[in-house]
This record gives sequence, structure tokens and C-alpha cells, in this order.
Amino acid sequence: MFSGLLIAVDILVVFAVLVFTLESNREGEPRAPKVGWAGVLFHLFLMPLIIFVPASRIPIGILFGIYVLFILVCLIPGKPNPKVLRGTMGHVVGDVKRVDERGIVFARVEGLKPGTEQYGRYYEMHPEHKAYDDRRREGGGFPVGPPGTVDNGYPPTVAMTEATFHMCFFMGDHAVAGSDPESSPHPLPPEQASEIIKNFTLHLGAALVGICKVNPLWSYSNRGEIHFDNWGEWGQEMPEPFPYAVVFATEMDYEHVVTAPHTPSLAESATQYSKGVYISTALAQWFSAMGYRAVAHHFFHYDLLPVPLAVDAGLGELGRLGYLMTGRLGPRVRVFATTTDMPLAPDKPVSIGADEFCQRCKKCAMSCPSRSIPLEGKVVHNGVEKWKLNEESCYEFWGKVGTDCAICMAVCPFSRPDTPMHRLVRWFVARSPAAKIIFPYLDNWIYGKKWHPRTVSSWLSYPKGKGRKEEVY
Ligand code: SF4
Ligand code: SF4
Repeated sequence: MFSGLLIAVDILVVFAVLVFTLESNREGEPRAPKVGWAGVLFHLFLMPLIIFVPASRIPIGILFGIYVLFILVCLIPGKPNPKVLRGTMGHVVGDVKRVDERGIVFARVEGLKPGTEQYGRYYEMHPEHKAYDDRRREGGGFPVGPPGTVDNGYPPTVAMTEATFHMCFFMGDHAVAGSDPESSPHPLPPEQASEIIKNFTLHLGAALVGICKVNPLWSYSNRGEIHFDNWGEWGQEMPEPFPYAVVFATEMDYEHVVTAPHTPSLAESATQYSKGVYISTALAQWFSAMGYRAVAHHFFHYDLLPVPLAVDAGLGELGRLGYLMTGRLGPRVRVFATTTDMPLAPDKPVSIGADEFCQRCKKCAMSCPSRSIPLEGKVVHNGVEKWKLNEESCYEFWGKVGTDCAICMAVCPFSRPDTPMHRLVRWFVARSPAAKIIFPYLDNWIYGKKWHPRTVSSWLSYPKGKGRKEEVY
């Protein structure tokens, strides 16, 4: 009877580990299938022991008991993190000054041209940025320098980047959509309007969508990034944001991302940025056609910071790597928004367990080639308690490889494909205090701690360029 029970449990374990191993193999994981096969062999080896060596049954029974205990402990639910459930305000511990868009690296290095009035004015106000910015400008082609250096500028994937990114130029100049003065608004109950607009957003190609009331703290104070030559706007105070935001994320394709920091991951960023311009602009036009005002926030037009808005709209939490961590796709997303004065029904912030998981995992920080992600705890930056990314060293690395790197996105356990196996793990992490503690260590053991780019389908493969740090990428 006892041996029969042990054999039944052993068969179940072999089956579960085999499924995990085959899935990991299909996902191209370098280490997990080896750990999986070792697990399968070990449990197959237990079978004859259970049958032919009675003395082995007690220790094997204890081992299986530990498995069962582990699952039971992980099934005990805990309370969601109350700070996280308050959204961004749960992390505000002091005075927050609205960010001046003129100070962000993109606006400085890419926007300010030596010899122009804005260049002179900005470095008079902030001489501390001049040395870094001039150095990056000399590197050429900010933010990524000559595209695809890491792959010797491999033409097919670099051309994919340019081709899809080019769409942003066609669509990017229509971010502001006024209401039609000829027609009066078509009011809808906020719940109905929200249901329509969220489903429309998904229909247009977004992977995740939520709605929040806009917290003006997360809007820029002054315009700094100038596209389409609107230099008259530089330095102007930003208008008061509209009160509601539809915030959405598009999915970065897994196979592209796991080539990070090589050119397919850059091509995928460009694709998603162009998709974000298309969807956010279409949403703004929908609000306009309904008789309301709206503004699209995308790569060529941000009046506000989309990530805090996404947290408040219930799309996810802020992770150690400084990106949004979503429940279904982790940080493997790009985030956009459309703000409007049409009354909508806001969603609530969510706790997916990332805050606690990130405290122990640190995989992104250990894999970051420029050491831009902190290994230590959170700090208070501009009144907000968070893990503070060093943007300047991160972008400096982009310039070296000629891509937007994305190693941190690729290595994050939350980025793995949205399959039943990974969904089950995320379900445990979101609910169980024990899983939040144990799983980060288990993940490091099974999948490894450091990042290594994966092999991809032949149409996406690329030749590796010179000067790579072999041990990293
Ligand atoms: S993008 Fe690359 S360099 Fe930047 S933080 Fe992530 S891993 Fe580090
Ligand atoms: S890699 Fe780990 S520490 Fe970094 S964001 Fe993902 S879960 Fe958090």
C-alpha cells in the first residue's frame, strides 16, 4: 500500500518535471532543461528503489512529504502589499517635484544642438550635465549610436528597426486631438465609456489596458523633447493634464527580446513604439469624434510619465529594473497612454508580488553590463521610495552596443512567455508570502543568475560583431 502510494507520487513528479523540461527546452532556456532532465532521471531512478529496496521507502517518503509540505505552504495566501495597493502614492514619502522634461537625457543629448539658443540656455542652468552630454553627442546618433554595432550593423535587422520606427514620423505629429466644435459631446456613463475604450484599445493591438485618474505629479513641468521642429515649445510650461488616462502596454515579442542586447531586440522596440503611436493616436481621435479633448502620449509626444500612470491604472508594479512589471508579461512591454476629459471609471492598482520578489531576485542587477541597476535596497529619489536606475550609465551602454540593450528585460523571470506553466508560478507569487521568499532563489538555481542571449529562428538570426564581451553577450 505504502509503496503503491510512493510509486503513484513518483509518476506524478516525473510527469510534472518532464512537462517543465520540455517547455523549457522549447523556450530555448540554456540551463533549465538540464536541471529538468536531471530531475526526471533522479525520479525514474527512485522507481526501482521503491519496488526492490524496502529500506529506501521511508527516506523517499520523507522526500515526497517535503514536496507536499512545500506546495501546501505555498498555497497559504497572504495579504497583498498595502503600499503597492495604494499605487504610486504608496511609495511617495516626501515632496515630489514635477520632472522638467528638459532634464531627461533624450531631450538633452538628442535635442540640444550646439550653437543653438536652447543649448546655451540649458547648460547655463545645468552645467553639471554638459560633459556627459557632449561626450554622448560625439559618439553620434543618440541614443544608440551607430545602430546595431554589436552585430556589425547587420542590415536586415537594422533595416527592420528603421522601417518600423519610421512609422512614428508619419503618425507622431497628431498627438493632440481637439473636440469637434461643430458637434456637442456624446456623453456616456463612465463605466460604459470605459468598457468601450478598453476593448477598443485591445482590439487595436494592445496587450494590456487600464484607466486611472491622472495624478498631476507625474506630468512634466516644462516641455523639453522637441520633435517635428516645434522649438517654440521648448521650455514652455506644460498644460494641466486632462483628468483621465487610458494607459496601455504592447507586448514585446519574446523571441526578439531574448536576443538582447542584439539587433532583433532593438527592431522589436521600434515595432512596439510605432504600434504605440498608432494606438494612442487612434484613441485620441476616438475621444475627439465623441466630442471630447484628448492627447496621445507616445515616443514622439509625452506630456507625462507613462509608467507611474500605468501603476495607478492597475497594469502592474514598479520593479527593481526601473520599468513597469506587469502581471502577465512582466517588464516585456512598452507603455503608452491617452489622456482625455471624457469621464471614465478608473481601475485600481494591483499587487503582483513583484516588490517582494525583486528584493531577493536581483537577476537584472547582476546581469546589467553597465551596473546601472542597484543591487542594494531602495532609495528616496525626488520624494519617491524606489530602486533608482542610473539612466546615464545605461544609455552609455546603449551607445556602445548600438541597441537599446534590454538585457534586464530579457533576464527577468516575470518576462517569460505567458504559458500555463509560468502563469501558475505568477499566481503563487502574487498570493503566497512563502512563494515570494522561496521562488526567487529557486528561479536562480533552476534558470541561472546571468544572462546569455538565445538562439533564434533563422529569419531573425544575426552575425555577432567585434568587440563583444563574450562572457556577457
Ligand atoms: S538596458 Fe541594459 S544597460 Fe540598461 S539597465 Fe537594462 S541591462 Fe542595464
Ligand atoms: S530580474 Fe528579478 S529583481 Fe530584476 S526586475 Fe525582474 S524580478 Fe525584479
